[in-house]
Amino acid sequence: MTALEIRDLHVNVEDTPILRGVNLSIQPGEIHALMGPNGTGKSTLASVIMGHPDYTITQGDILLDGESILEMEADERSRKGLFLCFQYPVAIPGVSIANFLRMAINARRRALNAEDKGISIPDFRRMLRAKMDLLQMNHDFAGRYLNEGFSGGEKKRAEILQMAVFNPRIAVLDETDSGLDIDALRIVSDGINTLMNQDMGVLLITHYQRMLNYVKPHFVHIMLEGRIVESGGPELAEHLEQFGYEKIREKVATRA
Ligand code: ADP
Ligand code: MG
Repeated sequence: MTALEIRDLHVNVEDTPILRGVNLSIQPGEIHALMGPNGTGKSTLASVIMGHPDYTITQGDILLDGESILEMEADERSRKGLFLCFQYPVAIPGVSIANFLRMAINARRRALNAEDKGISIPDFRRMLRAKMDLLQMNHDFAGRYLNEGFSGGEKKRAEILQMAVFNPRIAVLDETDSGLDIDALRIVSDGINTLMNQDMGVLLITHYQRMLNYVKPHFVHIMLEGRIVESGGPELAEHLEQFGYEKIREKVATRA
Protein backbone atom coordinates (compact mmCIF):
# COMPACT_ATOMS: atom_id res chain seq x y z
CA MET A 1 0.00 0.00 0.00
CA THR A 2 1.21 3.49 -0.79
CA ALA A 3 1.85 5.71 2.23
CA LEU A 4 0.86 8.95 0.51
CA GLU A 5 -1.00 8.90 -2.78
CA ILE A 6 -2.20 11.99 -4.59
CA ARG A 7 -4.63 11.10 -7.36
CA ASP A 8 -5.58 13.48 -10.16
CA LEU A 9 -5.85 16.38 -7.74
CA HIS A 10 -7.59 19.53 -8.95
CA VAL A 11 -7.70 22.51 -6.62
CA ASN A 12 -9.25 25.96 -6.89
CA VAL A 13 -8.71 29.12 -4.93
CA GLU A 14 -11.77 31.31 -5.18
CA ASP A 15 -12.86 29.70 -8.46
CA THR A 16 -9.39 30.01 -10.02
CA PRO A 17 -7.88 26.61 -10.85
CA ILE A 18 -4.41 26.31 -9.28
CA LEU A 19 -3.71 22.58 -9.33
CA ARG A 20 -4.85 20.87 -12.51
CA GLY A 21 -4.41 17.15 -12.12
CA VAL A 22 -1.52 16.29 -9.79
CA ASN A 23 -0.50 12.65 -9.37
CA LEU A 24 2.19 11.69 -6.88
CA SER A 25 2.98 8.66 -4.71
CA ILE A 26 5.43 8.63 -1.82
CA GLN A 27 6.60 5.64 0.20
CA PRO A 28 8.44 5.65 3.54
CA GLY A 29 12.17 5.84 2.98
CA GLU A 30 11.80 7.90 -0.19
CA ILE A 31 12.76 11.54 -0.67
CA HIS A 32 10.81 13.29 -3.41
CA ALA A 33 11.84 16.78 -4.46
CA LEU A 34 9.13 18.96 -5.98
CA MET A 35 10.57 21.84 -7.97
CA GLY A 36 9.12 24.54 -10.14
CA PRO A 37 9.04 28.28 -10.79
CA ASN A 38 7.20 30.63 -8.43
CA GLY A 39 3.44 30.62 -8.65
CA THR A 40 3.05 27.12 -10.09
CA GLY A 41 1.17 25.69 -7.11
CA LYS A 42 3.84 23.96 -5.01
CA SER A 43 2.84 25.60 -1.73
CA THR A 44 -0.80 25.11 -2.64
CA LEU A 45 -0.16 21.38 -2.83
CA ALA A 46 1.52 21.43 0.60
CA SER A 47 -1.38 23.39 2.09
CA VAL A 48 -3.99 21.08 0.59
CA ILE A 49 -2.19 18.00 1.91
CA MET A 50 -2.47 19.49 5.39
CA GLY A 51 -6.10 20.52 4.98
CA HIS A 52 -5.85 24.30 4.75
CA PRO A 53 -9.41 25.68 4.47
CA ASP A 54 -8.68 28.29 1.75
CA TYR A 55 -8.51 25.67 -0.98
CA THR A 56 -11.34 23.84 -2.73
CA ILE A 57 -10.71 20.38 -4.10
CA THR A 58 -12.81 20.03 -7.23
CA GLN A 59 -11.55 16.62 -8.33
CA GLY A 60 -9.26 13.81 -7.22
CA ASP A 61 -8.22 12.44 -3.86
CA ILE A 62 -5.40 12.29 -1.31
CA LEU A 63 -4.91 8.94 0.43
CA LEU A 64 -2.77 8.09 3.42
CA ASP A 65 -2.19 4.34 3.72
CA GLY A 66 -5.12 3.78 1.40
CA GLU A 67 -7.55 5.98 3.33
CA SER A 68 -8.84 9.29 1.96
CA ILE A 69 -7.85 12.18 4.20
CA LEU A 70 -9.98 14.85 2.52
CA GLU A 71 -12.63 14.83 5.24
CA MET A 72 -10.08 14.91 8.08
CA GLU A 73 -9.19 18.03 10.06
CA ALA A 74 -5.55 19.12 10.08
CA ASP A 75 -4.89 17.70 13.56
CA GLU A 76 -6.28 14.32 12.57
CA ARG A 77 -4.05 14.26 9.49
CA SER A 78 -1.14 15.03 11.75
CA ARG A 79 -2.05 12.17 14.11
CA LYS A 80 -2.31 9.84 11.12
CA GLY A 81 1.33 10.57 10.34
CA LEU A 82 1.54 13.67 8.18
CA PHE A 83 3.92 16.43 9.15
CA LEU A 84 4.15 19.84 7.59
CA CYS A 85 6.97 22.21 8.42
CA PHE A 86 5.90 25.70 9.40
CA GLN A 87 3.05 24.16 11.35
CA TYR A 88 3.64 26.50 14.29
CA PRO A 89 5.60 29.45 12.96
CA VAL A 90 4.37 31.84 15.64
CA ALA A 91 6.19 32.68 18.83
CA ILE A 92 4.48 31.39 21.96
CA PRO A 93 5.52 33.65 24.84
CA GLY A 94 6.44 31.80 28.00
CA VAL A 95 6.18 28.31 26.50
CA SER A 96 9.42 26.40 26.24
CA ILE A 97 10.07 24.02 23.37
CA ALA A 98 9.97 21.11 25.82
CA ASN A 99 6.59 22.18 27.22
CA PHE A 100 5.19 22.78 23.80
CA LEU A 101 6.22 19.31 22.64
CA ARG A 102 4.84 17.67 25.78
CA MET A 103 1.49 19.45 25.33
CA ALA A 104 1.40 18.38 21.69
CA ILE A 105 2.12 14.74 22.59
CA ASN A 106 -0.56 14.79 25.28
CA ALA A 107 -3.12 16.38 22.98
CA ARG A 108 -2.51 13.56 20.51
CA ARG A 109 -2.83 10.91 23.19
CA ARG A 110 -6.05 12.46 24.46
CA ALA A 111 -7.49 12.57 20.96
CA LEU A 112 -7.13 8.78 20.88
CA ASN A 113 -8.30 8.23 24.45
CA ALA A 114 -10.04 10.95 26.46
CA GLU A 115 -8.99 9.24 29.74
CA ASP A 116 -5.29 9.40 28.91
CA LYS A 117 -3.26 10.94 31.73
CA GLY A 118 -0.48 12.08 29.40
CA ILE A 119 3.14 11.06 29.16
CA SER A 120 4.98 11.04 32.49
CA ILE A 121 7.60 13.73 32.93
CA PRO A 122 10.49 11.25 33.29
CA ASP A 123 9.37 9.34 30.18
CA PHE A 124 9.04 12.56 28.26
CA ARG A 125 12.46 13.80 29.34
CA ARG A 126 14.07 10.51 28.38
CA MET A 127 12.40 10.52 24.97
CA LEU A 128 13.25 14.16 24.28
CA ARG A 129 16.88 13.67 25.30
CA ALA A 130 17.15 10.65 23.01
CA LYS A 131 15.75 12.63 20.07
CA MET A 132 18.07 15.55 20.77
CA ASP A 133 21.04 13.21 20.94
CA LEU A 134 19.99 11.65 17.66
CA LEU A 135 19.99 15.12 16.10
CA GLN A 136 23.16 16.14 17.96
CA MET A 137 21.38 19.06 19.60
CA ASN A 138 22.40 20.72 22.80
CA HIS A 139 19.90 19.76 25.55
CA ASP A 140 19.64 23.40 26.66
CA PHE A 141 17.78 24.16 23.45
CA ALA A 142 14.60 22.51 24.76
CA GLY A 143 14.43 25.11 27.53
CA ARG A 144 14.23 28.04 25.11
CA TYR A 145 10.90 29.77 24.60
CA LEU A 146 9.42 28.67 21.32
CA ASN A 147 10.43 30.92 18.44
CA GLU A 148 11.02 33.90 20.74
CA GLY A 149 13.92 35.78 19.20
CA PHE A 150 14.95 32.71 17.23
CA SER A 151 17.33 32.99 14.31
CA GLY A 152 16.34 31.31 11.06
CA GLY A 153 18.56 28.39 12.00
CA GLU A 154 17.02 28.03 15.47
CA LYS A 155 13.51 28.01 14.02
CA LYS A 156 14.55 25.20 11.72
CA ARG A 157 16.14 23.35 14.62
CA ALA A 158 12.87 23.57 16.57
CA GLU A 159 10.95 22.24 13.56
CA ILE A 160 13.31 19.35 13.02
CA LEU A 161 13.09 18.44 16.70
CA GLN A 162 9.32 18.54 16.45
CA MET A 163 9.55 16.26 13.44
CA ALA A 164 11.79 13.83 15.33
CA VAL A 165 9.36 13.72 18.25
CA PHE A 166 6.24 13.22 16.11
CA ASN A 167 7.97 10.61 13.98
CA PRO A 168 5.76 11.12 10.92
CA ARG A 169 5.18 8.64 8.07
CA ILE A 170 5.34 11.48 5.58
CA ALA A 171 6.90 14.91 6.07
CA VAL A 172 6.16 17.80 3.73
CA LEU A 173 8.78 20.53 3.81
CA ASP A 174 8.11 23.69 1.88
CA GLU A 175 11.40 25.56 1.80
CA THR A 176 10.70 27.65 -1.27
CA ASP A 177 10.38 31.14 0.02
CA SER A 178 12.13 30.94 3.34
CA GLY A 179 15.48 32.15 2.07
CA LEU A 180 17.46 29.75 4.23
CA ASP A 181 20.99 30.78 5.02
CA ILE A 182 23.70 28.15 4.86
CA ASP A 183 23.42 27.44 8.59
CA ALA A 184 19.68 26.79 8.46
CA LEU A 185 20.08 24.78 5.27
CA ARG A 186 22.56 22.47 6.99
CA ILE A 187 20.28 22.02 10.01
CA VAL A 188 17.33 21.05 7.84
CA SER A 189 19.37 18.78 5.58
CA ASP A 190 21.18 16.99 8.41
CA GLY A 191 17.86 16.60 10.22
CA ILE A 192 16.13 15.06 7.21
CA ASN A 193 19.05 12.76 6.51
CA THR A 194 19.12 11.58 10.14
CA LEU A 195 15.35 11.08 10.36
CA MET A 196 15.26 9.08 7.14
CA ASN A 197 16.44 6.21 9.35
CA GLN A 198 13.07 6.35 11.14
CA ASP A 199 11.55 5.21 7.84
CA MET A 200 10.00 8.52 6.93
CA GLY A 201 8.90 9.59 3.46
CA VAL A 202 9.67 13.18 2.47
CA LEU A 203 8.18 15.64 0.02
CA LEU A 204 10.75 18.39 -0.20
CA ILE A 205 9.47 21.46 -1.99
CA THR A 206 12.27 23.65 -3.16
CA HIS A 207 12.69 26.29 -5.79
CA TYR A 208 16.44 25.98 -5.94
CA GLN A 209 18.73 23.10 -6.70
CA ARG A 210 20.99 24.23 -3.84
CA MET A 211 19.23 22.25 -1.13
CA LEU A 212 19.58 19.07 -3.16
CA ASN A 213 23.33 19.25 -2.73
CA TYR A 214 22.70 18.38 0.92
CA VAL A 215 19.64 16.15 0.70
CA LYS A 216 19.83 13.61 -2.09
CA PRO A 217 16.35 12.99 -3.48
CA HIS A 218 15.42 9.62 -4.93
CA PHE A 219 12.86 11.27 -7.21
CA VAL A 220 12.57 14.75 -8.67
CA HIS A 221 9.30 16.20 -9.99
CA ILE A 222 8.88 19.42 -11.88
CA MET A 223 5.66 21.37 -11.59
CA LEU A 224 4.51 23.86 -14.20
CA GLU A 225 1.16 25.63 -14.03
CA GLY A 226 -0.41 23.25 -11.56
CA ARG A 227 0.75 19.96 -13.05
CA ILE A 228 3.73 17.70 -12.62
CA VAL A 229 5.12 17.76 -16.14
CA GLU A 230 8.32 15.80 -15.64
CA SER A 231 9.53 13.20 -13.12
CA GLY A 232 12.86 11.50 -12.88
CA GLY A 233 15.85 10.81 -10.68
CA PRO A 234 18.39 13.27 -9.21
CA GLU A 235 19.76 13.91 -12.70
CA LEU A 236 16.59 15.88 -13.46
CA ALA A 237 17.53 18.49 -10.85
CA GLU A 238 21.01 18.77 -12.36
CA HIS A 239 19.49 19.18 -15.80
CA LEU A 240 17.31 21.95 -14.39
CA GLU A 241 20.28 23.66 -12.79
CA GLN A 242 22.03 23.64 -16.14
CA PHE A 243 19.21 24.52 -18.52
CA GLY A 244 16.57 26.22 -16.37
CA TYR A 245 12.80 25.90 -16.42
CA GLU A 246 12.54 27.36 -19.93
CA LYS A 247 13.93 24.18 -21.50
CA ILE A 248 11.34 22.11 -19.65
CA ARG A 249 8.61 24.48 -20.80
CA GLU A 250 9.72 24.11 -24.42
CA LYS A 251 9.86 20.34 -24.11
CA VAL A 252 6.35 20.23 -22.63
CA ALA A 253 5.05 22.56 -25.35
CA THR A 254 6.29 20.28 -28.12
CA ARG A 255 4.57 17.35 -26.43
CA ALA A 256 1.14 18.93 -26.65
P1 ADP B 1 4.40 28.29 -5.51
O1 ADP B 1 4.51 27.74 -4.13
O2 ADP B 1 4.72 27.28 -6.57
O3 ADP B 1 5.20 29.53 -5.71
P2 ADP B 1 1.65 28.87 -4.80
O4 ADP B 1 1.01 27.56 -4.54
O5 ADP B 1 2.06 29.67 -3.64
O6 ADP B 1 2.87 28.67 -5.81
O7 ADP B 1 0.68 29.75 -5.68
C1 ADP B 1 0.11 29.29 -6.90
C2 ADP B 1 -0.91 30.30 -7.37
O8 ADP B 1 -2.04 30.27 -6.52
C3 ADP B 1 -0.45 31.74 -7.39
O9 ADP B 1 -0.97 32.37 -8.51
C4 ADP B 1 -1.02 32.31 -6.12
O10 ADP B 1 -1.27 33.67 -6.25
C5 ADP B 1 -2.31 31.52 -5.98
N1 ADP B 1 -2.69 31.33 -4.56
C6 ADP B 1 -2.15 30.43 -3.72
N2 ADP B 1 -2.72 30.51 -2.50
C7 ADP B 1 -3.65 31.47 -2.58
C8 ADP B 1 -4.59 32.03 -1.65
N3 ADP B 1 -4.67 31.59 -0.40
N4 ADP B 1 -5.39 33.02 -2.10
C9 ADP B 1 -5.32 33.47 -3.38
N5 ADP B 1 -4.46 32.99 -4.28
C10 ADP B 1 -3.63 32.01 -3.91
MG1 MG C 1 5.63 28.39 -2.50
